[in-house]
Amino acid sequence: MTMTIKKTSEFVDLSVEDRLKFTYEKFGNDLVVTSSFQSQSVPLLHLISKHIPKVPVIFLDTGFHFPETIAFKDQLVKQFGLNVIEITNKMGHGTFKQEYGQLYKKDPDQCCYINKVEPLERALSDYKAWMTGIRSDQTEQRKKADYIQQLDNGITKICPMLDWTNHDVWTYVHINELPEHPLLEKGYLSVGCAPCTQPSEDGDARSGRWKGQGKNECGLHNKLGKDS
Ligand code: SF4
Repeated sequence: MTMTIKKTSEFVDLSVEDRLKFTYEKFGNDLVVTSSFQSQSVPLLHLISKHIPKVPVIFLDTGFHFPETIAFKDQLVKQFGLNVIEITNKMGHGTFKQEYGQLYKKDPDQCCYINKVEPLERALSDYKAWMTGIRSDQTEQRKKADYIQQLDNGITKICPMLDWTNHDVWTYVHINELPEHPLLEKGYLSVGCAPCTQPSEDGDARSGRWKGQGKNECGLHNKLGKDS
């Protein structure tokens, strides 16, 4: 059955489970999900495994992840039976490090562009719809997001978790007895690349990301699809 999302309000009234099914019924094999495989990613990954298990999940392998993140990803892939696609920058990690060294210190926006934004833009060219687990309560930028957005590159971006809170995430994790990222107990409430992530000191999950660099988004949710 072909379904059409006529307006965001129709989508808002659905449960997250039904948002996933609704999206899959509309886009089928043209749908892909992205995940950073941290603790807060677990509810969406678990729901995907239960309701739309065939949908591929992209993991952006930047070459700078904590070994704990790679191990946690592998654990979740096995436990949930996820269909994961790993993508990297065009030049490969070794060449990037040779050519750019510690670019994350000098120009983190360019580093994120080369290792995250461009690879995802390239991967998304094979699909029509992109589902992501971002939530409104994470950053000021994400407060402006909508459940369904038409990007300039022709991709439909779907954010089924937008109205979930941090509390909702942890309630879901605990009720379903799901695993937590191993760095959580060391104070890493949000986990990105190792050089750009520190433990959160004020309880704000995003405060440990790019600390002191005036940046709190990698570009996937504020640049991708906006300039093509
Ligand atoms: S988070 Fe840091 S290391 Fe990772 S791609 Fe961005 S700037 Fe580079």
